[in-house]
Amino acid sequence: MTSYKLLLLPGDGIGPEVMAEVEKVIDALDALGLAHFEIERDLVGGSAIDAHGKPLTDEALARADAADAILLGAVGGPKWADVAYEIRPEAGLLRLRKDLGLFANLRPAICYPALADASALKRELVEGLDIMIVRELTGGVYFGEPKEITTLPDGSKRAVDTQVYTTAEIERIAHVAFDLARKRSGRVASAEKHNVMKSGVLWKEVVTRVHSEYGDVSLEHVLADNCAMQLVRRPKQYDVLVTDNLFGDVLSDVAAMLTGSLGMLPSASLGAVDAKGSRKALYEPVHGSAPDIAGKGYANPIAMIGSLAMCLRYSFGLGEAADLLDAAVTRTLASGARTRDIAAEGVTPISTAEMGDAIIRELTHAAG
Ligand code: NAD
Repeated sequence: MTSYKLLLLPGDGIGPEVMAEVEKVIDALDALGLAHFEIERDLVGGSAIDAHGKPLTDEALARADAADAILLGAVGGPKWADVAYEIRPEAGLLRLRKDLGLFANLRPAICYPALADASALKRELVEGLDIMIVRELTGGVYFGEPKEITTLPDGSKRAVDTQVYTTAEIERIAHVAFDLARKRSGRVASAEKHNVMKSGVLWKEVVTRVHSEYGDVSLEHVLADNCAMQLVRRPKQYDVLVTDNLFGDVLSDVAAMLTGSLGMLPSASLGAVDAKGSRKALYEPVHGSAPDIAGKGYANPIAMIGSLAMCLRYSFGLGEAADLLDAAVTRTLASGARTRDIAAEGVTPISTAEMGDAIIRELTHAAG
């Protein structure tokens, strides 16, 4: 069986705690003969600042470049609040995304039946929810130039951010969305604001053109503000939702809240497919380093374990192993196991490690 090169970057705060559970799952997958990995480990974020004075060393970046996929825990925390802006913990993550060209951010928002009551919305609106948000990650207003604050003659200030998209940037993210829709229910919604933004006009035009190559997928255009409203009104109407960097940032956080807890949400950031048919990819939970609960054994490892499942599916083509792992999570939750973030009142929560063990038991049972 092929052995995949996986780089683990646990990072800071609860990052190493949830990554420890992923390492246990990796050992279990190996023991069950479902997948084999060559594991490397390195530092990112605050832990790299402490060890090397910068949030990502060139050596770590080279390792990331050589790996088949990267799993990252989380970066940041109050300990590094005062370091220089250029070497803040988040800069390590941004450099990884930028230097590896990870332009497509995939964020599934799945509401497990067992957790439907933990959502801010009514059970019937979210139970069975399964949306995939595809956010453009390396263009748009977060990167466009000019980006500056200048002082006007009267002493007041003027701030500028620039929203820029090219045809090629929109085409490649549209392809990611349509290809994904083919493997799901065949529906894509594209969110922009063509009514007030030129970048929205181009976005809509290019997505429509790319769609003509996908006769088996349906496409709906939706204004981003309406989309935000629809996500809380009738979220199950969406399957794949493709949008730009800024709108994606906001809409994916709205979708996150539909599912109950940040501790449940995995993500993937993918690069372009190369001549050999492979692509750079980084998988990480949506949540941060949660300094408020770090070191206490409270962290929910499901977002991190779900990130490994995405890695099996999207980087290694191991759909069967990914299905088994996702199903193990669903059954573990159905059995009543809860970390503190998802435990209803009166339910005794289990620890990070106990949740990892429970998922591995279900995985072993299903694969055995
Ligand atoms: P956060 O996601 O770390 O935490 C928000 C809340 O959710 C906290 O109450 C936390 O306890 C809870 N939470 C998060 N993950 C959880 C889990 N797996 N299990 C149970 N509870 C969980 O966001 P924040 O508090 O705004 O940020 C903390 C630090 O993380 C900051 O330094 C921030 O910059 C950084 N951050 C990093 C990333 C990343 O690495 N990708 C993302 C967001 C924030």
